[in-house]
Amino acid sequence: MPLRALPSSPLVQVIDEELVWIMLDRLGIKHPEAAGIRKCPSCSADMKGGRHALRCKTGGGPIAHHNLMRDTLAAVHSDAGVVVGSETRHLLPGSGEKPADVHAHGIGNQGRDIAIDVAIVDSQTGGTDAELQRRALATGIAARRKEAEKRNNRREAGAPTMEERLLQRGMDCTPIIFEVDGATTGTWARYLKKLSEIAHTRRGHNEQRFMAYWRTRIAMALAKRGAQVAIRRSHAIQCCYTSPNAGWNFSGDDDGPMGAFGVEPRIEMAADSTAHIVFDNMMDMTCM
Ligand SMILES: [Zn+2]
Repeated sequence: MPLRALPSSPLVQVIDEELVWIMLDRLGIKHPEAAGIRKCPSCSADMKGGRHALRCKTGGGPIAHHNLMRDTLAAVHSDAGVVVGSETRHLLPGSGEKPADVHAHGIGNQGRDIAIDVAIVDSQTGGTDAELQRRALATGIAARRKEAEKRNNRREAGAPTMEERLLQRGMDCTPIIFEVDGATTGTWARYLKKLSEIAHTRRGHNEQRFMAYWRTRIAMALAKRGAQVAIRRSHAIQCCYTSPNAGWNFSGDDDGPMGAFGVEPRIEMAADSTAHIVFDNMMDMTCM
């Protein structure tokens, strides 16, 4: 998608660094920032050639990713002339749960509200070996599995599902799940079609153009924010490994296409303490 989208607005543009990250990932080439690093220093997960940085929970990357998708979905509704609330509390009184990332008013069955639950999953992690093999051949499997999980989520065995509980409160429930590479489920395709019809009725939008525009915007938001999150996390991980206390792992041919030498640790985007130490030392030297 980043290659097909016209860079006609800042929302659908990627900077060079992001494009390089996306291309390497798509082509299955190891990310040079993660060269020589096998395990994530914070969560010990396999770095998977650097791809782990996309979904590593340390540093809050997945939340930034999720929140941007939530805001983008809210924007689709507004563009269609649908009133929305974000992360509305008290939809399920007494539970403290927030089942709706986006709460769309009055467009469900029989005019009910819709609680939209957004999630982003990585098709290359989780699941058994057999399932990972199936996912390599077909897209959307991880997304469909997550959607079923969300709909059937019960607080305890025998309790009603999330879908049933929301319906009891007069709300429809629509989990919208994207895989980090952009695949999604049929639910989103049908939902976008429905929004395009509402957009036509309420705001006079051309339905086909509305769908094409938002498909591009959403794919670009996923690709761009994913790359931003991954690059930021990669730099932080790299700083951990280049600190005086951590040795490089030169074993095997894991150093990536550019090798491990001559790669400067980046300091301006990293949020871990190592970066500050390096930075402070540099400042001391320049001040002398
Ligand atoms: Zn990690």
